[in-house]
Amino acid sequence: MEALKRVRVSRAALAHNFELCRRQAGTAGIIALVKADAYGHGMLECAQCFARLGASGLAVAEAIEGVELRKAGLALPIYVLAGLAPQSIEAIVTHRLTPVVSDTQMLLLLAREAERSGRPLAVHLKVDVGMGRQGALPGEFPVLVQQALGTAWIKVDGLMAHLPKGDERSAIHSNQVLADFTRVSKEALQLIPQPCSLHLANSGGLFYVTGAGFDLVRPGIALYGYYPDGRSGREAATEPRLRPAMQFSAIVLQVRQLPAGQTVGYDCTFTTTRPTTLAVLPVGYADGYLRKLSGRAQVLIGGQRAQVLGRISMNLTAVDISHIHGVQAGDEAVLLGRQGGDVIDADELASWMETINYEVLCLIGRLNSREYIDE
Ligand SMILES: *Cc1c(COP(=O)(O)O)cnc(C)c1O
Repeated sequence: MEALKRVRVSRAALAHNFELCRRQAGTAGIIALVKADAYGHGMLECAQCFARLGASGLAVAEAIEGVELRKAGLALPIYVLAGLAPQSIEAIVTHRLTPVVSDTQMLLLLAREAERSGRPLAVHLKVDVGMGRQGALPGEFPVLVQQALGTAWIKVDGLMAHLPKGDERSAIHSNQVLADFTRVSKEALQLIPQPCSLHLANSGGLFYVTGAGFDLVRPGIALYGYYPDGRSGREAATEPRLRPAMQFSAIVLQVRQLPAGQTVGYDCTFTTTRPTTLAVLPVGYADGYLRKLSGRAQVLIGGQRAQVLGRISMNLTAVDISHIHGVQAGDEAVLLGRQGGDVIDADELASWMETINYEVLCLIGRLNSREYIDE
């Protein structure tokens, strides 16, 4: 049976964005970020797509995601960026995942498990240059590096840091972080006899911070078609044009005529002031179309914008189509994406939701059934 609503992910858009990232990265290899179910676009599908396109590695938040990728047959390096706990150590060693390590305690646990199972483990070490979440502070970093180098069964394969303001086009702050990372990693490299790769840039670092490329880059949001600052290259026309990969649409359940003076939705927050034609859509906050969008959001029907009226419910939303003629039950409404000559992108939805495009994609992508298209 055909779904009443669905997320469509364009593989062609993913490929287009990957190619733009690759051009921007120059000689640096690309670690494709597929955490959070590939920002709602589907981890396995996206990982396979980026692997085919020539990614140097994949990155996830937690080991459990990496295990799923290995079980699906993905053989390239898989970096576990965030969730490193005693509970993840066995899976990391067994499945040859590459953890990002920030403290010596974890190094010892990893080394013990590597020795126990007879498998040497490559790790990347993280320096904290201002993010303040994970990583060793610059002053502590040489100790961490030396400890790792002196630990049997552990191989130091990379050094990395994360940009706290990667979404800022004016790179003043990021340039300071870049300078700090360059200095700290250069010093550390002198201690490391074997080849060791450096990486710093997320999407913002890749597109906004000159010289942040190093050996590897770690774009996430750009692969899915958005700039991190929510402007998607519209105002900055000099930047390469990324292509949003996700569309979210629903079919119209019912078209209704309401007289003036009729309330719409829970709590009766909206009252018609004139005879109004409504379209009822099978979408609500349970699908990630947040209640915050009540009375604020618009959707596309017949290539035109229709305003959400009243509260969004768990599974239903009403929109005003008084100005759009000929709409019938079964027609398609686009909540995220393009229809006719108009487009509602995740940046616009994010402004209505008072959040960022990342959160819109994660929510809508993960709460709805997805299909993949090639155009
Ligand atoms: C999520 C993440 C990225 C990717 O960030 P984007 O802004 O989506 O490009 C890069 N590096 C690390 C450590 C991350 O956690």
